[in-house]
Amino acid sequence: MTRLLVVRGPDDPAIGEAAAILAAGALVAFPTETVYGLGADGLNPEAVARIYAAKGRPATNPLILHVASVASAKALVAQWPVEAQLLAERFWPGPLTLVLPASAAVPAIVRAGGPSVALRCPAHPVALALIRAVGQPLAAPSANRSQHLSPTRAEHVASSLGEAVDLILDAGPTAAGLESTILDLTGDRPRILRPGPIAPAEIAAIMGPVDLWKGAVMAGETQAAPGMAERHYAPRARLVLVAPGTGLSSASDRVAYVAIGALPPLAAGVHGVLLPMDAEEVGSRLYALLHELDDAGFDRILMEWPPQGEAWLAVRDRLRRASAKEPA
Ligand code: AMP
Ligand code: MG
Repeated sequence: MTRLLVVRGPDDPAIGEAAAILAAGALVAFPTETVYGLGADGLNPEAVARIYAAKGRPATNPLILHVASVASAKALVAQWPVEAQLLAERFWPGPLTLVLPASAAVPAIVRAGGPSVALRCPAHPVALALIRAVGQPLAAPSANRSQHLSPTRAEHVASSLGEAVDLILDAGPTAAGLESTILDLTGDRPRILRPGPIAPAEIAAIMGPVDLWKGAVMAGETQAAPGMAERHYAPRARLVLVAPGTGLSSASDRVAYVAIGALPPLAAGVHGVLLPMDAEEVGSRLYALLHELDDAGFDRILMEWPPQGEAWLAVRDRLRRASAKEPA
């Protein structure tokens, strides 16, 4: 059995224990406000290599370094532009990841060999206390096997990674439930690589218009940003997206139907789930719901497309990827 320690807050002794494990080069899964992360000492290449092995993550997919302060972020970049300063003042700690030119301090394995580094300061007291206790940035992707559903609870980590993680810190369900917004500040114009809890308009309010990477809004642009594979975040059941109100009049397999706003007519035996017309709430519950439907053994999950509009951008992005076909 994987070791799991319940953490009641930033002063819990479990954090010291976890920090010692990380300092020794091993892996600890910990809560953030987005999803659970699989952490390693981000400046120790052997420890970071264990993350790739545990997840089965391709070496071409770079990692986010988690820091507890702007000062630590600055030590990891070659330049800290005024935009980064303004965004960090407004959104850190919080679910915004900044991609910037890396300094020599960042090991190549963290960057997947590229020239830039992704940085974020998580808004979870346990995550911040852990980073401070280790005294190093923590490399931490989502704590799940590569391409699978991200974990929003400690149990999800245990069932996805099993023995591959040395310790799991359990602080209950995560709040935002979707991965951070990733903003690339290395080009001529700022560009959102992955939509997330912080909307483009919130970023634009600080620094003017931002571009949205095409792959973040439509299918088939898989290679233009590192690691943004088309199929991702996927449940085991086949996820099929349908138009709102479609319903289901007959089914010969075990099907769950997830509606948003109102439940349409469903054949007897189809398991109906109703989510509210509220992007933030659907974002926060989405992965836990898909985990639950997977665990219940459904063959198929039909889910209604969320509405157009920026508020639903991150949820639509994850659903599009989660329903993408497995590469041949
Ligand atoms: P995960 O931590 O699994 O949610 O994934 C982190 C994602 O951040 C990766 O899949 C990349 O898409 C993105 N990322 C990390 N580092 C960089 C970087 N240096 N440049 C661009 N994107 C990055
Ligand atoms: Mg992930």
